[in-house]
Amino acid sequence: MSGTVLVTGGSGYIAGFLIRQLVERGWTVNTTIRNLAKEAQVRATLGVAPEKLRFFAADLEQDAGWAEAMAGCSHVAHVASPFPAGAVSDDVLIPPARDGALRALRFAKAAGVKRFVLTSSVAAIAYGHPPANGAAFTERDWTDINAPGVGAYIKSKTVAERAARDWMAEHGAGMEFCSVNPSAVLGPVLSDDYSTSIQFVQRLLDGSVPGFPRIGFAVVDVRDLADLHVRALETPGLDGERFIGGGRFMQMEEVGAVLRARLGDKARKVPKRRVPDFVLRLMALFDGSIRQVVGELGRVRAIDPGHTAQVLGWRTRDEEQSIVDTAESLIERGIVKV
Ligand code: NAP
Repeated sequence: MSGTVLVTGGSGYIAGFLIRQLVERGWTVNTTIRNLAKEAQVRATLGVAPEKLRFFAADLEQDAGWAEAMAGCSHVAHVASPFPAGAVSDDVLIPPARDGALRALRFAKAAGVKRFVLTSSVAAIAYGHPPANGAAFTERDWTDINAPGVGAYIKSKTVAERAARDWMAEHGAGMEFCSVNPSAVLGPVLSDDYSTSIQFVQRLLDGSVPGFPRIGFAVVDVRDLADLHVRALETPGLDGERFIGGGRFMQMEEVGAVLRARLGDKARKVPKRRVPDFVLRLMALFDGSIRQVVGELGRVRAIDPGHTAQVLGWRTRDEEQSIVDTAESLIERGIVKV
């Protein structure tokens, strides 16, 4: 397709793959980054034709730059949102996520954008309650942010998506909106600056975790997630939809088994035993990042992307291949020394 699309947060992991796919499909892409000093580095990483990609400085918490970034765009993929690795308080995370989404919507509407796609998360769907049908979460479910143990990142994604949908109901007439709600994103990395979601494969490979906690994630491949965003942007006649982007729920122990089976000696530092729950709970007392996940012990948060498959004809590739490709690229780039 031709035309101009804005992808926010061009320095991010998912945004990078999305920008590449959009350019391959004929789009011209505008992208925002916080500081234009990063432009050369992001361009070098993405390697797309220079005339097909334009950079604009814009921060989620400030108005400056957004009108310029949106000018001439018919479509917007709002991908940028803070995704920190460590423990962060609600006050730090929720305002940029929520206000950034609202700011992007407001400037998009003013610029005459026709379709706005918000990168939300399974975090906005599957936490604080069991699945309604007892088996898997669907696009009809919403996280309960008031339930105990729901962390700041999960709250930030839920609050931002709800605020965006409320804003659309009140002010959005004439602009189509949908959200993409990914699970844990894996796949090859484009540079040393990769997403928090890659870190659990990295830590298993480099031997920095002593064993497997009883924690798992539904996995989605970054290349397929970019393709899902493209479909959500390009498919005519969508409005208000929620598209889960995710595949099989896998325990960390299963991920470790895939690494050992497929990488042979390169996976020699991958642990072989489990970490008992009480040990993880003890570690959580001293380590904020462990505290963030300790509530997940023993939980299975399977998701059902059936609606996405039905409406957009989408599915993610074999999860084991994504795990192997993540590991291979971390090793090839020297990020993990095996
Ligand atoms: P990422 O690589 O950390 O990208 C996050 C992007 O947001 C970066 O470009 C970052 O810019 C930008 N950003 C953060 N705070 C900002 C601010 N105040 N102003 C402007 N830009 C800001 O993470 P990702 O995995 O690609 O995540 C992209 C989106 O997918 C996020 O909305 C995330 O919540 C969502 N998501 C990710 C996963 C996953 O497993 N990776 C799963 C579900 C949903 P800087 O480079 O300047 O920091």
